[in-house]
Amino acid sequence: MAQPDPLKVPRYANLATFARLPAAGPEASVEVGVVGIPFDGGCSYRPGARFGPSAIRQASRLLRGYNPEQGVSPFEVGRVADLGDLPCTPFDNRRAVEEMHRQVAALLPRVRRMPVFLGGDHTISYPILKALSEHHGGRPLTLLHFDSHMDTWDDYFGEGFTHGTPFRRAFDEGVLDMSTSMHIGLRGSVQSPDDLEQDRALGFRTIRCAEVDELGGPAGVVRRIGERLTASQNASQEAPPLLCYISVDIDVVDPSAAPGTGTPECGGLSALQLLTMVRRLRTLPGVQWVGGDVVEVAPAYDVSEITATLAATVAYEIISLAAPGPRL
Ligand code: MN
Ligand code: MN
Repeated sequence: MAQPDPLKVPRYANLATFARLPAAGPEASVEVGVVGIPFDGGCSYRPGARFGPSAIRQASRLLRGYNPEQGVSPFEVGRVADLGDLPCTPFDNRRAVEEMHRQVAALLPRVRRMPVFLGGDHTISYPILKALSEHHGGRPLTLLHFDSHMDTWDDYFGEGFTHGTPFRRAFDEGVLDMSTSMHIGLRGSVQSPDDLEQDRALGFRTIRCAEVDELGGPAGVVRRIGERLTASQNASQEAPPLLCYISVDIDVVDPSAAPGTGTPECGGLSALQLLTMVRRLRTLPGVQWVGGDVVEVAPAYDVSEITATLAATVAYEIISLAAPGPRL
């Protein structure tokens, strides 16, 4: 068993690793590795996501080995471990991003199926995407981005490495497949209509929170995602699987269910809607999951660990996507 028997060792005992998985150093070879990046130097509003990885680990103690919603045992696919945190400077964003990129690139050859990253603010997704695309021979990645914000600004206060800019940097580097990448869950005010137009001009397509009901709920949202992915594969039977990355900013969920975050926006998804969407991504054909992250958990603003517990559960569902099993 990957986890200690909870009937012999209570789940609240011992040091917190993700889901009580074994701890391993960044040099370990694993099938799936959980990795924290405790960085929040790119945060534009409420700080504190640097404490996200430790809060998510603490809240993840209750996770069990079998996932009935996806019909898989995500920790039984081989060695699944918590690889600890990647250290980076809190004082210089450009240097921090370089440090993240270097360390993610170094661990990817030893993670056979999928790394799952715990943020940290959303800045961390750019160096991860860059390293992953390089690891996969420079192939562009399909980004499925769950967030109330686009995070495609060019800069903020002249700084290009912030939690509002990771996907613009990834676009600039050519590491995203712009025929497939999408934002899901956008809402709230922006500076001007130009913000939305600029994002669309990059090639992103969007499912706004306000459309979720119209589309028939989470299942309809995932069907719409599937239509875009399938359209890009131009009906060729020979097409290799799309390399997909999922990035979940916990502020995609309504502040009533995820208050512990840096830039809350009202009118968000319910916890169940988000979890159902992530679970149903399993139904997408022609997809290879190459990584994921859960970011923007700021524990100082949390209440009764509800945000951290949800983030831990989302990470569990992402890990489950990598486990072989029925497509649902
Ligand atoms: Mn956000
Ligand atoms: Mn974000």
